[in-house]
Amino acid sequence: MMSDSSRRIPLRATGLLAGFAALAAVTGCGAGAADSAPQGGGAGVTAAFYPLEWLAQRVGGSDITVTTLTKPGVEPHDLELTPQSVAGLEQTRLVLYIKGVQPAVDEAVEQHAADRNLDVATLVPTIEATEEGHEEGHEEGHEEAEHADEPGHEPGHEHEVSYDPHLWLDPSRFATVATELGERLAAADPAHAQGYKDRAAKTAAELTALDGELARGLANCRSKSLVTSHQAFAYLADRYKLHQVGISVDPDAEPSPARLAEVAEVAKREKVTTIFTETLVSPKVAEVLAEEVGAGTAVLDPIESKPATGDYLSAMRQNLTTLKAALSCT
Ligand SMILES: [Zn+2]
Repeated sequence: MMSDSSRRIPLRATGLLAGFAALAAVTGCGAGAADSAPQGGGAGVTAAFYPLEWLAQRVGGSDITVTTLTKPGVEPHDLELTPQSVAGLEQTRLVLYIKGVQPAVDEAVEQHAADRNLDVATLVPTIEATEEGHEEGHEEGHEEAEHADEPGHEPGHEHEVSYDPHLWLDPSRFATVATELGERLAAADPAHAQGYKDRAAKTAAELTALDGELARGLANCRSKSLVTSHQAFAYLADRYKLHQVGISVDPDAEPSPARLAEVAEVAKREKVTTIFTETLVSPKVAEVLAEEVGAGTAVLDPIESKPATGDYLSAMRQNLTTLKAALSCT
């Protein structure tokens, strides 16, 4: 990204306690900004996409109003922000995001909320992205690695940062984030500090319980190979000692025939019975691969968008059920 050279220093001293008074002062910087004014009495917090929205609502409770930049059902990585969304960043008290997931959000935060953001990736140990997101241990000299620089290639999140950003798929890391968010909100809004801390503790406990369920459920499995269409499960694999074999980094990109052949070889060698597809992306590639290796397919939700029913916790439990069946766990 070349945006660093054009980084703007915000002229206003908005600070963490910006409220309605500051609102009037900033509406001059974009037409239509008034449309996205925070509603209700709660302080406005902006979440970049669903898992962070869920966390902010859990920890913030009725003390904050959460706005989400990514609408339900939208694949978040290639999100483009409307002028209204960008204007909203000028007014929000805190932007919760993960640098590397959404280039448009990263840039907008840098330009419009440089003094009021929390990059969740700074709170937990990150896992290094495999070479342009490819499966570790796979052979060198792969032409797909150069793919990212070709004109017309959509800017993928994995090309912006050196780590894999899908950290919310490890509930133990996400528990740490819950606790830190509670501290951060308490510091920004001392009048409601105890509420933030209590809800953060409760949320962290729920996430820790979920972590325990996953650890127990995935402890004894016949297969440890997680063959996925969108390589989003490195944190889950890391935490529960599975082995992710991703077909493609970019959920929208067509993998090369060479890459498909490689993954097919691994899948056959490791007697994989299930190729995982995901909720927001066409299952076509996974289906072709499954047929090639004589496997079935199942949906594993990377929870990048709000589940059709339930929430983050129930979607993770559904993922556990799917994994136990697919990997023959006892
Ligand atoms: Zn992703």
